[in-house]
Amino acid sequence: MFKRKTEHTSNKELKSIESRVERPGSLEPFYIRNALNPSYQIVTEEEERGLYSKPDVQRIINLLLNDVKELIPSFDLHYYCRYNEIEPVTDLKPNEIPGLLDRLTKYKVLDSHFYEKVIICDKCTSPNVASRFLCSHCKSTNISQKKTIEHLSCGYVCPEDQLVVDTDGRTKHCPRCGLILDFNAGPDVRINEGWFMCGHCA
Ligand SMILES: [Zn+2]
Ligand SMILES: [Zn+2]
Ligand SMILES: [Zn+2]
Repeated sequence: MFKRKTEHTSNKELKSIESRVERPGSLEPFYIRNALNPSYQIVTEEEERGLYSKPDVQRIINLLLNDVKELIPSFDLHYYCRYNEIEPVTDLKPNEIPGLLDRLTKYKVLDSHFYEKVIICDKCTSPNVASRFLCSHCKSTNISQKKTIEHLSCGYVCPEDQLVVDTDGRTKHCPRCGLILDFNAGPDVRINEGWFMCGHCA
């Protein structure tokens, strides 16, 4: 049997709802998964009303009404994402802010859009990681980004500095077939900016 919302307000239950609503981070994945269960819908409505009455939420909305057009995150090595405009006007800890903004977005109070991707550790979610780029064949880190030239009719690809240069110092030949390469929008040459080359196996 389902209870109506008004019968759902014993102190103990309210406390447990509150403690779930108050914890940092978004609750949404949990509620969406359980959306067909009426008791969770009730909690969601409780949360929605609760959200608007929170002073921190009102401060964020005021900030957006009066002072800033958009809340832009800044990268931080400890918290990975911080909202510098919100921190001074609320009592929230930096790590509680993104979760709250997420919830406000789920309730259509705010709008969000893609800003940037950040690499984080998949075990502890720390953004304090070092990234090393490896050759996908031999795992060497000795790679560099080079401009490469492809001679389309013979299929040869090489870095620009491996082309054979004539005695005039300007005319360049394909190292494989010896043809003169026309770099002025010639249909037989394709230039790839930023091809990664391995200094170990290539
Ligand atoms: Zn980690
Ligand atoms: Zn060629
Ligand atoms: Zn390699």
